Amino acid sequence: MGLTKNAVGKGALDTSLVLQKRIPDDRVIALAGNPNVGKSTVFNALTGMNQHTGNWPGKTVASAQGYFLGEEHGYLLVDIPGTYSLLAHSAEEEVARNFICFESPDAAVVVCDATCLERNLNLVLQIMECGVRTAVCVNLLDEAERKGIRLDLDLLSARLGVPVIGVTARKKRSLRTLTATIERAMETTNTTYPVIPYPLILEDAIRPIMNALDGLELGGLDSRWIALRLLDGDAGLMRELEKHLGSDVFRSPALSLAMKNAETVLEEQGIDRLAREDVIVSSAIARAEELCRGVVTYEKQSYLERDRKIDKILTGRVTAYPVMLLLLALIFWLTVTVSNIPSEWLSTVGFGLIERLATLLTTWRAPPWLIGVLTDGILRVLVWVVSVMLPPMAIFFPLFTLLEDMGYLPRVAYNLDRHFQRCHACGKQSLTMCVVDIRMQKIVIK
Ligand code: GDP
Repeated sequence: MGLTKNAVGKGALDTSLVLQKRIPDDRVIALAGNPNVGKSTVFNALTGMNQHTGNWPGKTVASAQGYFLGEEHGYLLVDIPGTYSLLAHSAEEEVARNFICFESPDAAVVVCDATCLERNLNLVLQIMECGVRTAVCVNLLDEAERKGIRLDLDLLSARLGVPVIGVTARKKRSLRTLTATIERAMETTNTTYPVIPYPLILEDAIRPIMNALDGLELGGLDSRWIALRLLDGDAGLMRELEKHLGSDVFRSPALSLAMKNAETVLEEQGIDRLAREDVIVSSAIARAEELCRGVVTYEKQSYLERDRKIDKILTGRVTAYPVMLLLLALIFWLTVTVSNIPSEWLSTVGFGLIERLATLLTTWRAPPWLIGVLTDGILRVLVWVVSVMLPPMAIFFPLFTLLEDMGYLPRVAYNLDRHFQRCHACGKQSLTMCVVDIRMQKIVIK
């Protein structure tokens, strides 16, 4: 683990997914969503499997697949890695984007967190913008209710123009109608167009590029989506597009001319490549905000205010780093120092028992080699390993899991991303390094 060649960059990608349809008529459904929204819970409930697609950094980024039967068809459900966006900046985002955009799933089910729906809608909009049929599954309704968050999902469905269902995935029976919702999504063409409206200047740049793309073989991709990707010019995506469409499309003189004109006009207005990416991202955020107006209402303003205050501290310019360092230092201190107390106790009890066993075996006149092998060879090593490793693990992993469930680990990864990028890794790698570091500390200390 850690910063190994296999854990970062292309090495972390599992490109070997082979779709295993049972019959050719089976439909392929991509199960997408931000990390920790209950995607695996939905996947397991629908397919009867027991999978957990890793959001864990340093782990191979893979997609799991499972099967379920609907009224009309059999469905192959592909659990793609949790991602916040399709504008890929990490291995997970790249796998998710490539599956959604280039594997032509028949539909996508986007699992969203009911307690922060607005943030989750960003991914919904990006997937709809690709031209993929979409169903929205708003999970964690129980948590939303506990926090006094009310959701008008019919209104959201009407605004998005796609089926939306609310569930509490932990309760299997609440997923009973999800299959019907997916089947409805298969019959619905996304009616909202454009999914994300952009400022006029960008729309004026998109139109001629779309016109130039008309008549070219686009491999089933949406021309507006391609035009936007050409404008934000992500090198990785350009490579994927070229692989998918063949390089001839990009050699089209009409397309080159339209791109050149669009770039000149945008640059004259001071919108360079970076600014274009900013405009594209902020337009999606603005659209999500607009969609949620009237859809999400807060019964208990106190929850909202408390959450905002905590967010302010955890994400504030001045407070984010000290709070993160304090929190990680506290976890390290508990794991490395406080865990010595149960470690000492375990080793004292364990070695005491071994001494007694050795005395007993000597009284029974057991051969010295047997006493040596059993007590010094096997049991001492076992007690040593258990007493050194168990307490720190029992403290560290629950605490880390708690932070993950609270959604704070992505924040740590984000805070450290810039620094890790300097050595060609990504911020998420810091989390794996914490795990490895804890193990090393304990071994070195002992
Ligand atoms: P993933 O990372 O999106 O695959 O999310 P998981 O399926 O691993 O779920 C993340 C956490 O949310 C787990 O602790 C689940 O038990 C919990 N979870 C999933 N669905 C629900 C739900 O409907 N209600 C509550 N309260 N927790 C849920």
